[in-house]
Amino acid sequence: FGETKVAVIGTDGVGKSALSVRFLTKRFIGEYDQTVESKYKYTTTTDGETITFEVLDTISESEDCGARDDVLRWADGVLIVYSVVSRDTFDVIQDIRRRIDDCRKGASIPMVLLGNKCDLAHMRKVPQEEGQRLANEMGCPFLEVSASEDVDMVTDAFLILSREVVDF
Ligand code: GDP
Ligand code: MG
Repeated sequence: FGETKVAVIGTDGVGKSALSVRFLTKRFIGEYDQTVESKYKYTTTTDGETITFEVLDTISESEDCGARDDVLRWADGVLIVYSVVSRDTFDVIQDIRRRIDDCRKGASIPMVLLGNKCDLAHMRKVPQEEGQRLANEMGCPFLEVSASEDVDMVTDAFLILSREVVDF
């Protein structure tokens, strides 16, 4: 199938870099440069099938959450990330959706909605059901993940997105 180009978008601080690096290296690194946009290439095998990912770990320019036209035109699919401990990062997904609609002129793009930082249960602000409801409305898969505590769900998120892209 060649390559799946994945753009990871969402508000500053939701864990886009942590998730990308977790997927690519299986490790969690606590702090990342917020000022550099990084693109990684990574090949993995799942169910005997080889998939090459290009992962664009975006940064925000003037609060666009990384959802810029050039990014959205480049990507085959997007991981839209919010933090379950920040209501604002969830609410802003409406703006992200508008940006995607504007850029794609109504034509959709495969997406997966991710609620990150689910390890911080005591600080949770966005219930799982709300994330699920939004994803249903968007017509896309939804997962809650923790870049810091869990590698399997993070890997699943990228694989599910690649499947969405192939089936698109
Ligand atoms: P980005 O701006 O979206 O790329 O966010 P970062 O990946 O730089 O993460 C922002 C902060 O959140 C950093 O201090 C990370 O260590 C922390 N972080 C990221 N993911 C998680 C997570 O799943 N759980 C917890 N507890 N902290 C996380
Ligand atoms: Mg980052």
